[in-house]
Amino acid sequence: MIVITSNQTPDERIAEIVRYIEKHDLKTHLSRGEDHTVIGIIGKIEPKLAEHLRQMQGVAQVIKISKSYKLASRDFQPTDTVIDIKGVQIGGPDLVVMGGPCAVESPKQIDEIARLVKQAGGQVLRGGAFKPRTGPYSFQGVGVEGLEMMAEAGAKHGLLTITEVMTPEYVDVCAKYADILQVGTRNMQNFDLLRKLGTIQTPVLLKRGFSATYDEFLNAAEYILAGGNPNVMLCERGIRTFETYTRNTLDLAAIPVLKQLSHLPVISDPSHGTGRRELVEPMTKASVAAGADGLIIEMHTDPDNSMTGDGVQSLFPDQFSRLLEDLEKLAPIVGKRFETAKEPVLTGSWAL
Ligand code: PEP
Ligand code: MN
Repeated sequence: MIVITSNQTPDERIAEIVRYIEKHDLKTHLSRGEDHTVIGIIGKIEPKLAEHLRQMQGVAQVIKISKSYKLASRDFQPTDTVIDIKGVQIGGPDLVVMGGPCAVESPKQIDEIARLVKQAGGQVLRGGAFKPRTGPYSFQGVGVEGLEMMAEAGAKHGLLTITEVMTPEYVDVCAKYADILQVGTRNMQNFDLLRKLGTIQTPVLLKRGFSATYDEFLNAAEYILAGGNPNVMLCERGIRTFETYTRNTLDLAAIPVLKQLSHLPVISDPSHGTGRRELVEPMTKASVAAGADGLIIEMHTDPDNSMTGDGVQSLFPDQFSRLLEDLEKLAPIVGKRFETAKEPVLTGSWAL
C-alpha cells in the first residue's frame, strides 16, 4: 500500500501520518517528490486502517500495490536512486563505466589494467578475487591477496573498485577493500548472502540470475533493501536461452523494463551477456541506447593467457578505449553524460 500526500502537505503533517501508520505495527518508507510525498507501507494493512488513511487530512490517495517487492519498486519510490561513491554518482545523469579483467591475477596485471581503464575514462576497476567457477578444478581466484592488489591499483590510479563476494563470511573482508560488492549470477538467490549484504551500507551490484524473471530479480534486490542497505544496482548480464552461439542472451529489454519497475540504477554487462569479444562493442552501445546507467566490461592486456576462460570476451585496451570515445558521443543522445580522459591509449602489442 502507498499513501500519496496532497500538494504542499507540510512536513509536520506527513510526520503525523507516518506516526499514525507506525502505531499499527507497520513499517514506512518515505519518498519525497517535487509536489507529493509517497509513504510506502510495509506489512499487512487492515481494510479499516486503509479506509481511515483515505479520510485523513493531507492524504490525496491510498493505493494498493500488488507487487511482492516493495522497496525496490517505482511505486514506493518514484524518483531514481542515485548512489554516490566518493563523488562518482551511479543512477544519475552520468554514465558509469566499470572495466577490468575477469580475475585479478597479479599486482602487475591489475596495476597495468587499472592505468588503462583510467586513461580511457572509466570510473571503476573491476576484478574478481574470488571466482565462482562451474567446475571445482578451475582457477578459483587469488583470494584476499587479490583484494589487496586491487585496492592498491584502484587507489593509485584514482578508480573505484568492484569485486565479487560469494559467501556471507567474506562480506566484511571484501567490503574492507572494495567500494562496490558484486553478487554473481549464480548467487542471485543466495538469500543468506543477500541478508548479510543488507546489514552493511557498501553499494551492491546484484547480477540477474541466468534464469531469473524480473520479479525474482527484484525480489532478490528487496532482500538487501529490506535489511537496511539502500545502495543496490541491478545488472543485466544475459540469460540462458536455446541459443548457443552466444554464451548468454543479453536481454536488452530488461534495461527499460527494470527502469520502469524500479528506481534502482541499471547496469549492463555485455561481456558475460554475449561471451564474444566482437559483440561487446555493439551490445554496449545498444545498452546505452536502451537507457543503462552504466556498463561493466571485461578488458585484459593479454586475454589469450587470462586465468579464467573469459579472455575470449575481454576487450583489448585499445578497443576499450575506442569504445569509450564512442560512448562520449552516444551518451548525450539519450540524456547521459560521459567524458573520456582525452589521452590516446597507445595501441602497441595490444592492437588487433
Ligand atoms: C564476472 O563478472 O566475472 C562473473 C563471474 O559474472 P557472472 O556472475 O555474471 O557470471
Ligand atoms: Mn568473467
